[in-house]
Amino acid sequence: MNPVVIVGGGLSGLAAGVHLASRRIPVVVLEQKPAAGGRAYSFTDSVSGETVDNGQHLLIAGYTRTLRFLETIGTINQLMIQPRPCIVFHHPVRGFRVMDFGEVIARGTSDEIQGNERVIEAYLGPQWR
Ligand SMILES: Cc1cc2nc3c(=O)[nH]c(=O)nc-3n(C[C@H](O)[C@H](O)[C@H](O)COP(=O)(O)OP(=O)(O)OC[C@H]3O[C@@H](n4cnc5c(N)ncnc54)[C@H](O)[C@@H]3O)c2cc1C
Repeated sequence: MNPVVIVGGGLSGLAAGVHLASRRIPVVVLEQKPAAGGRAYSFTDSVSGETVDNGQHLLIAGYTRTLRFLETIGTINQLMIQPRPCIVFHHPVRGFRVMDFGEVIARGTSDEIQGNERVIEAYLGPQWR
């Protein structure tokens, strides 16, 4: 059987490839970049040295196919589940915004946010640092 050729090794291409391969259909995934993942990738911030996720940031329970894909490839246990969804945004000029279901619960510049650490920690737990 000739392999199915999938152009692009982003989430869609990888999920399609895994789906076909799990049904014993030969598949070739072509990716132009050196690493798979497409727009869902991480990089090391040159200033802080932190690993920054480009996406996916928001993964909700309704993403049934994504969750099934992660289960199939054996990485579902690596998801960090927030019991109370809350997102920290950072803009180089405007500073931080901590959103809790759309409500701003803390704001400030990178320096000022230090004073809000306790507020953020109350929502995110100690692992946010
Ligand atoms: C900053 C950011 C934040 C995001 N946050 C979220 C989020 O919180 N929640 C959410 O659900 N989604 C989020 N997204 C969107 C999500 O990342 C994308 O919807 C998803 O990753 C798209 O996957 P994809 O496989 O469809 O496309 P892509 O990830 O774009 O993959 C396409 C792949 O095809 C490759 N390609 C293209 N043309 C060729 C070619 N001719 N030959 C070989 N390879 C080729 C590309 O290099 C790429 O790797 C975010 C995206 C960004 C950029």
